[in-house]
Amino acid sequence: MPKTPAAAADSASITISRAGALRLRDGHVWVYRSDIVSAEGVQPGSLVSVQDERGKFLGTALYSSSSQIAVRMLSREKVDDLQSLLRERIQAAVTYRKQVVSDTDAYRVIFSEADFLPGLIVDRYNDLLSLQVLTQAMDTDSARQPVISELTQQLKPAAIAERVDPRIRELEQLPPRTSGLIFGDQSGDQGAQKKTSTIFTMNGVRFHYDALEGQKTGAFLDQRENYAAATRYMRGEALDAFCYQGGFALHLALRCSSVIGVDSSRPALEIADQNAILNGREIEWIEANAFDLLRDYADSKRQFDSIVLDPPAFAKSKRTLDTALRGYKELNLRALKMLRPGGTLVTCSCSFHVTPNAFMEVVAQAARDARKTLRLLENRAQAKDHPMLLGVPETAYLKCLIFNVSN
Ligand code: SAH
Repeated sequence: MPKTPAAAADSASITISRAGALRLRDGHVWVYRSDIVSAEGVQPGSLVSVQDERGKFLGTALYSSSSQIAVRMLSREKVDDLQSLLRERIQAAVTYRKQVVSDTDAYRVIFSEADFLPGLIVDRYNDLLSLQVLTQAMDTDSARQPVISELTQQLKPAAIAERVDPRIRELEQLPPRTSGLIFGDQSGDQGAQKKTSTIFTMNGVRFHYDALEGQKTGAFLDQRENYAAATRYMRGEALDAFCYQGGFALHLALRCSSVIGVDSSRPALEIADQNAILNGREIEWIEANAFDLLRDYADSKRQFDSIVLDPPAFAKSKRTLDTALRGYKELNLRALKMLRPGGTLVTCSCSFHVTPNAFMEVVAQAARDARKTLRLLENRAQAKDHPMLLGVPETAYLKCLIFNVSN
């Protein structure tokens, strides 16, 4: 297993193919391994200068010796001092959030490539930060140290927890590591207070957060603006399918006469219930496979005024796209059949491989089969603290459509 030495300032050089260079010219920031012509002597996780086959300098990047994404561009310029660059980029990311984020103390502070910090994700939940490292380069001490120091200075968190995805570390051939605090009181002392949980607020709704539990980095912050949007139209009897810890359901409860939240994960529902109590709301949580429950409801002619569908990413790769599209169609069909005339459907897809057009088409097919007429109220994406970088389609992954449904 390769070591991860400090990213070298005296950057080695990588030569990439014409196809790779064209991709960069079009605004992308990745070079795949198949487009590397030569990377002789380049250390895993190091800072590299990138050139085309004629020797033209294309920019500075971070190198991974194991990922299919071998090169992630950092800058079109020469970079001599990686540490200062990381600090400046963190400052810029924080400034950007001040412009685009409101009504919340929980948001994504750093979104990897979209904040020009490839391989780094940082989320803020009130006074806690959650950090995820996705690449060899960001795992080096010379990256970690300035990142943690700058985040601490800028955001003054009580603690920073690192969340480790073992699968990603394996892919990057990094040694195993466990999730835990990397800033704050990390002592194992019995009496010492470790700050790993907090309460955060978005759109006036409060949520419990535990830095070392839950899926993803704790909550689905990318839906924050969609929660607020959905709240504008929802009313009557509501169903939140794939509710996780109640993100949509708790917002629906502000407007609807009754709310049911469905998820297959009991731990998620337990936190959802604590969240409902925290907000003084009554919501019925059902642990079930949402596909089965929707079918049962449809069979028994159950009706709703408002339905949210926010399933997990069905298409994890291009290969599974067809199956994913069938899954989305099936779900949307069942939901549409259950909506009363004048009802609202909020339907989401977080699969990058399902394009906005493909998703719209799937919903249109479902509407045809359900013999319903849909009016598009809002065509939405992820919240602005998850920036979408033009030229890097992978940074735009969430689709959230809101429809008014009639017979
Ligand atoms: N809407 C949520 C996020 C949903 S994430 C929010 O805004 O916070 C997707 C959720 O789907 C996860 O909580 C997962 O446990 C759940 N899930 C996955 N497969 C499921 C299934 N077949 N039936 C019900 N829930 C499922």
